[in-house]
Amino acid sequence: MNKQINIGIIGTGHLGQYHVKHYLGLPNVNLVGIHDVNPRQMDIIQKTYPVKSFSSMEKLIMSCDALSVVTPTETHAIVAEKCIELGKHVFIEKPITKDIKEAERLVRIANENNILIQVGHIERLNPAILALKPFSISPKFVEIQRLAPYTVRGTDVPVVLDLMIHDIDILLSIVNSPVANIRATGVSILTDSVDIAHARLRFENGTVASIVSSRVAQDKVRKIKLFQKDFYATLDLLLGLTEVYQVNDESNDEISPTTAPFEYHGRKRIISYTKPPVVQNDALRDELSNFIQSILGNATPIVDGQAGRDALEIAIKIQDMIIQDIH
Ligand code: NAD
Repeated sequence: MNKQINIGIIGTGHLGQYHVKHYLGLPNVNLVGIHDVNPRQMDIIQKTYPVKSFSSMEKLIMSCDALSVVTPTETHAIVAEKCIELGKHVFIEKPITKDIKEAERLVRIANENNILIQVGHIERLNPAILALKPFSISPKFVEIQRLAPYTVRGTDVPVVLDLMIHDIDILLSIVNSPVANIRATGVSILTDSVDIAHARLRFENGTVASIVSSRVAQDKVRKIKLFQKDFYATLDLLLGLTEVYQVNDESNDEISPTTAPFEYHGRKRIISYTKPPVVQNDALRDELSNFIQSILGNATPIVDGQAGRDALEIAIKIQDMIIQDIH
């Protein structure tokens, strides 16, 4: 289809510049322009990319069919609501908003006005996660680690809302059951808010997940381990590596490249090891493409407003619990 979607970007800081870069290269996109409250930031972008800057946010919104909101999280609600009020679809960077009330309001007015909200939970498109697609996943236990060295960026929000929310969104997409119970603890180390957090989530179907997120680590780590009957998967989201161990009956061993026999209660079985193909991608490009194709009616948003709201709800419950625990 040749239809062009007129796109605008509001907020062209660290991440917004990459939205500019990708929209310029995507099919079905006419990048109308950018708006940033900081005119110097727009100048910097214009020196690198052939894009028009708008000093008025309203004028940019009025000239577009859809917008990316890449401003700091505390401004997502006010900026996105303006877009939705004016009848425009919105891609909102994660977290959707700073609190649940704002998220629910956005989802409600978007539904009422037939507007599409997509939320930038980019890790859903991490190739290591996508490589799990051929497998039937229903984990009983999940262990997740997301550690990063300290940088100023992101410290305007606690680590739960900056880093852990990525893993909460992944978990909610994998475990098809409501969260029944949360335990959480955290520590402030370098900032006044929580820098390292641990949460234990139990889902109504019995699945248990343990998530550790830190922004005071020496090295970057992003790992997920999934355990279920006769199945164990280990994912490295940084390296783009997925490894799967499955237990099969001996007779089923034709396709595994690596196998190890074992015996339990007299039953002989084999553990087979596979490395499903991990197709390298640019996750930001792919999620923006998904947004455009969803507007065109050729796809549905990978992470819609409701999913963004659901991840935020759990993140805020974890954060509140940590604060209670600290005081
Ligand atoms: P940033 O501070 O580098 O950039 C934000 C830009 O928005 C700045 O240029 C600022 O001048 C501008 N701005 C502020 N208020 C504005 C307003 N009301 N209207 C227009 N422009 C405004 O921040 P960033 O690191 O690019 O983060 C932006 C958003 O993206 C945050 O919500 C953050 O959580 C999210 N983020 C997501 C990921 C991810 O993995 N998906 C990664 C980084 C950041």
